[in-house]
Amino acid sequence: MHADRDKCVSLQASPAQLLVIALTFFFCSGLAEEKPKTPHPGQSLFTANDTVEYVPGTLPIVIAAPHGGRLTPANIPDRTEGVVVTDADSDLLAREIAEALHRLTRQHAHLVICHLKRSKVDCNRDALTGTGGNAAAMETWQAFHDSIESARTTGRELYLDIHGHSHPQPRVELGYQLSAEQLKQSRASLATLEDRSTISGLGTTSHDGFEERLRGSSSLGGLLESKGFPSVPSPTNPDPAGQPYFSGGFNAERYSANAEGEQFVAVQIECPRDGVRDSEQNRKRFAEALAESIVVFLKRHAGMDLLTQQSRP
Ligand SMILES: [Zn+2]
Repeated sequence: MHADRDKCVSLQASPAQLLVIALTFFFCSGLAEEKPKTPHPGQSLFTANDTVEYVPGTLPIVIAAPHGGRLTPANIPDRTEGVVVTDADSDLLAREIAEALHRLTRQHAHLVICHLKRSKVDCNRDALTGTGGNAAAMETWQAFHDSIESARTTGRELYLDIHGHSHPQPRVELGYQLSAEQLKQSRASLATLEDRSTISGLGTTSHDGFEERLRGSSSLGGLLESKGFPSVPSPTNPDPAGQPYFSGGFNAERYSANAEGEQFVAVQIECPRDGVRDSEQNRKRFAEALAESIVVFLKRHAGMDLLTQQSRP
């Protein structure tokens, strides 16, 4: 009773208090209207019932995390076919990579995260396999890929598909759509596979041969290894040597070329848990190493200097 009486008293506002409330409402609603509705670098946009997050950027880099989602809405049935295992914390890792690139270049990469758990949708498969035909899952799948498409304005964007693996060898697996068998080949026969790889777009801008770009000291694997992250392919591990290896999937294939079929660069990056994904500190450490490696890689092989590049409008 006593509490109720206090509540009633506190609800009685003076004319001055009412004016303050009215003004606060007026300014707050005014600010709400000014919220940007168009893409703004570094600012998250959520679509498909908040299951897809797109952070637009100005760097020619698109980072996507299709398998790190955590949402399990009851209205979407669990997928019954295909792989349904989540790549734990690959969403957080993708965000760290974007942040590390921003610290280094003062510009934002494009970042696309699927927040729906993989048991509900797989955005690294074709639409039917990834959704089982469910309409709500399809909405998420479409929004994920529409976000990537809207980020790729020139067709010369480095595309990174961020994943996590649990293979026995705790090394970073870089997928360029070349199988473990194909990676066993020597320099001469490897060169004939360049067009099948997802880095064939560097052929016109790089002064190095295909093998160097793929697994030399200036390849992404070579650069990551020099910073303490064992990788394959790389100078130390030119091929998986009989160990399990992910060579790249639907997204890396799809986004290695633009709509006109012009090739650039796409890489599936499969990260081990230990030392890379397992703590905030390790995710940051790996993200720094990858960001630095990307800057060196794109400068050397694509003639892009991210440290001096002006923001695109
Ligand atoms: Zn994955």
